[in-house]
Amino acid sequence: MFNTRGKPVQAITVLLVEDNPRDAALVAYVLGDRIPRFEVTTVGTLSGALRSLKDYRFDVILLDIVLPDSQGFATIAAIRKAAPALPLIVLTGFADNEMALAAVEAGVQDFLIKGDFESAMIERAVRHAIARSHLEERLKASEERLKGVLDLAHDAIVSVDVRQRIVLFNPAAERMFGYRVDEIVGQPLSLLIPEPLRAAHADQFVGFFREGVESRTMVDRPEVSGLHRDGNVFPVEVSLSRSEGPDGPLFTAMIRDITDRKRTEAELRLLATTDPLTGLANRRHLIERAERELLRLQRFGSPFSLMTLDIDHFKRINDTYGHACGDHALCALAATCVGLLREIDMVGRMGGEEFTIVLPETVGDEAMLVADRIRRAIADIRCDSDTAAAVFGFKVSIGVAECSPEEARIEQPLARADRALYEAKAQGRNRVVRA
Ligand code: GH3
Ligand code: MG
Ligand code: MG
Repeated sequence: MFNTRGKPVQAITVLLVEDNPRDAALVAYVLGDRIPRFEVTTVGTLSGALRSLKDYRFDVILLDIVLPDSQGFATIAAIRKAAPALPLIVLTGFADNEMALAAVEAGVQDFLIKGDFESAMIERAVRHAIARSHLEERLKASEERLKGVLDLAHDAIVSVDVRQRIVLFNPAAERMFGYRVDEIVGQPLSLLIPEPLRAAHADQFVGFFREGVESRTMVDRPEVSGLHRDGNVFPVEVSLSRSEGPDGPLFTAMIRDITDRKRTEAELRLLATTDPLTGLANRRHLIERAERELLRLQRFGSPFSLMTLDIDHFKRINDTYGHACGDHALCALAATCVGLLREIDMVGRMGGEEFTIVLPETVGDEAMLVADRIRRAIADIRCDSDTAAAVFGFKVSIGVAECSPEEARIEQPLARADRALYEAKAQGRNRVVRA
């Protein structure tokens, strides 16, 4: 058979399952003289139908559900099991609409009432059933693709409606927030937001709703956090999008848990600002702090002093007791300084056995008193030596410099403190010298 352009036209293959020979003949006859052709295979039992489905390929099934070996929905179920995707039209012997509708619900594409159909009608039903089945298959494939994306996404994907009720919750969201999809769908979004942030979040939601923007990230927000079912609050990064769903606008958030990133950032910050041996501020961090104090002095006239401290004859400690004991001495010195100083003071290790202390709001004799208190406290430190089974102590020299608002750079008072320290060393060590 050829179409108007001379191309071959394939016949539509029909499996007709009908035990009444007269009805079967009628259907076969009605379809027989149509173009393109219908090739009708007729069987009279369910078992015959199942055999044919195993051996041949069909485009559509016409099924009488009352057969000698199976009746009603059991017939539909058996056929569906054998041929899940094949278009299926049910032939009912009587005008039982309810049963026919239920059959459509059960996955049947259409139904025809026997004795009531004309040739055109049955042909149309067959063609529609095939077309509808193809559409359903494509819809199913598209749904499966979407589900695959949602299921495999590493980020949580959560959609809400305009009332901020959750309508979509992917497996990553289940893991991130600790709720199963079946218990969270229909619940308010606020369940996933820490209580102190809820009011602000609701305002922002309304803002996003009014803006009419289609998507945006939330990286510009100072703080976005998620709330796990167990009460744990964790930092997140969110991007939002808006789409039209069947029941109105849908707002979808892609949520990424950034706990690990935040931790890494904090670790990096710590690494970048602290001295690993003593845990004190490192050189760069201390200088930053001193520069801030200089700005405060210039702007508000808040005075401050700098102290530079160096262990006397530290080389001998290393030489006598070993490098590890030298390290212990450095840590003990750090702890002693931190213990003696106020919260607002800052001690930093500038390198080797040299330390600098920033003393805000402390100048003149007061700064000298603090320096001498530190010198004496350090002289009282006793360290255990593991090599020589002895206890040792050590002393420090300190240079003190007061900062003046005329100074443009922090290097100037630091250099003066260094010179005072050098002077203390020159005068015999174990002493404090004012610049
Ligand atoms: P001075 O009284 O003139 O300051 O003499 P000093 O021996 O303390 O000074 P010097 O600069 O000659 O020696 C400092 C020593 O500090 C040498 C170096 O090996 C030691 N040192 C520097 N950093 C560390 C450290 O992290 N751990 C240990 N154990 N020793 C260190
Ligand atoms: Mg020294
Ligand atoms: Mg030194």
